Amino acid sequence: MVLTGEKQIGLFWHPYDEILVGFCHSYQLRIGDILGNPKMEENELRLRLLRPIGDSLPKEMVDIESMLVKTWQDMDKKWQDFIEVFKKYCKVNRDYQVVLVNFEGDNYDDELARNNYLEAKEIQAQAAQAYIEARKEYDKVFGNYMALSSKYKKVIDDIHNKECPNCPWNGNTIFPEAS
Ligand SMILES: [Zn+2]
Repeated sequence: MVLTGEKQIGLFWHPYDEILVGFCHSYQLRIGDILGNPKMEENELRLRLLRPIGDSLPKEMVDIESMLVKTWQDMDKKWQDFIEVFKKYCKVNRDYQVVLVNFEGDNYDDELARNNYLEAKEIQAQAAQAYIEARKEYDKVFGNYMALSSKYKKVIDDIHNKECPNCPWNGNTIFPEAS
C-alpha cells in the first residue's frame, strides 16, 4: 500500500491500540506494521482509526508537533550519519589490525594505516556524540509534548469526539471488549 500525499509524520489519532494521540514517525511504516498482524478483522479498525490530526489542536500543541518532527528528523539523520561513518571505521580498523598482525620489526611503515584508523575512530566518535546530543534534544521536546498532552487533555478529548466518529475508544483501548 503506497500512501502518497498524506501526512507521514506527526501527531496521529490511535497510532497504537492503547493510545489516543501519539507521535508517529512514519505513517506508511506503521501501516505496514499493522498489516503484519494476523488478525485482519482487528486491523480494519486500526487502519480506520489511525488518522492524522488536523490543525484543530491548540497552538501550543501544533507548535510542539513541529518541534517533535524537526528534532526527530534531525536525530534520525544523525543516526544515519553515524551508521555510515561507523561502517567506514570498522573497515579501516580491520585493515589496521591486518597491518599490526603483519608487523615485522622496525622496517614496517604502518603510519598511513594507523593515521587512517585514528582519523576514522575520531570521526565516528564525533558522529556518535552528535547523535547523543540530537537524541537529548528530541527527548526534551518529547517531555514538553507529554506535559502539554496532560494540560490539554480535556480539549483533546473534545476534538477526538468530533474527528473520530464511531470510535470504540474507552479511555484505555480501541478494543474495549477484549480488555
Ligand atoms: Zn478515536
